Amino acid sequence: MSIRVPLSKPFIDQREIDAVVEVMKSSTLSLGPKTEEFEEKFAALMGSKYAVAVNSGTSGLHLAIRALGIKPGDEVITTPFSFIASSNCILFEGATPVFVDAEEETFGMDTGQIESRITERTRAILPVHVFGHPCHMDKVMDIARAHNLLVLEDACESPLATYMGQTVGTFGNASVFGFYPNKQMTTGEGGMVLTDDEHTYKLIKSMRNQGRGDSMQWLSFDRLGYNYRISELTAAMGVVQTEKLTSIINAREEKARKYSDLLSGIDEVRLPQVLDQVRHSWFVFSIRVSAHWRDEIIAGLNDAGIQSKAYFYPSIHMQPFYQETFGYKEGDFPVAELLSNEMIILPFYTSISDEDLVFVADTLKTIIKKIKNK
Ligand SMILES: *Cc1c(COP(=O)(O)O)cnc(C)c1O
Repeated sequence: MSIRVPLSKPFIDQREIDAVVEVMKSSTLSLGPKTEEFEEKFAALMGSKYAVAVNSGTSGLHLAIRALGIKPGDEVITTPFSFIASSNCILFEGATPVFVDAEEETFGMDTGQIESRITERTRAILPVHVFGHPCHMDKVMDIARAHNLLVLEDACESPLATYMGQTVGTFGNASVFGFYPNKQMTTGEGGMVLTDDEHTYKLIKSMRNQGRGDSMQWLSFDRLGYNYRISELTAAMGVVQTEKLTSIINAREEKARKYSDLLSGIDEVRLPQVLDQVRHSWFVFSIRVSAHWRDEIIAGLNDAGIQSKAYFYPSIHMQPFYQETFGYKEGDFPVAELLSNEMIILPFYTSISDEDLVFVADTLKTIIKKIKNK
């Protein structure tokens, strides 16, 4: 069956195309004015002092972990219900991810479990704002202050989400955003690190560019660094996407509301919640169904030309590499496992038509009816 409704689609028009072509006609293809403009615009929109653009969200997480001084032997408390990079970035520096379970309300970390996992080696908390819904940042920050811990927010899925009126990514010592094509805004590949701390900013900027110092002497290296730079082509696209981001999130909020209305009558489907103190930024639209039915529903949608996906399945602690390295087993983080077994993400993107939302909802209803009558 050919694809009739894809899972995701970038929101690109002539403005991005023109901006990229303009850079191609210039002679500056890296480390130029577009990168600076992208950083300035993104930082201003988020309300952060400093921003460093990098070539992926994962690179951004790695640089943030390094710049915050997290070292071998340190422990970082995070969640197993996430994309693998939020945990891998801790391993890059020889530190240990220590998981607390996820919670059903926000899909983020269960903040009630954090204090029980703190040891003398704990250096930081790494919350992930899952699917665009912020986790309980007031609790995370209270615990961090009480125990003198750093906070690195993985905001890759949550640009412009807010918690108690504050923009996600401005709570912690640093935060990271990602611009892969399925994200709310995209640059193809790309990421951004935010911080209000000048020292952290300078370290990240240097390490992005091979560890070069402020003077930018091309063959003078002050510290260990990487090539995590973005190109000016990428940055030019990022500038336009940043300008569009507010309208993108508004549109997604509207589409999510329509989806929720269309699916609200189905007893077998649990819809995502939005807490009162939250502005959701809608990375994906997720539903929960009985774990026994999940694969059959995905297959049924696929037969109708509708892409959908189990998400995040399996959760990080159940990934083969993590099981082998840390000995995790089924039952270690029951809520993360429950969510990963029940969750399906449906087609969802900024330009999805109302007709397609109706088509997906109707097809889903038919499939569930068929399964129930078997
Ligand atoms: C997308 C994403 C990242 C970064 O991914 P890249 O592909 O490296 O840009 C990191 N963490 C989470 C939770 C993500 O969803």
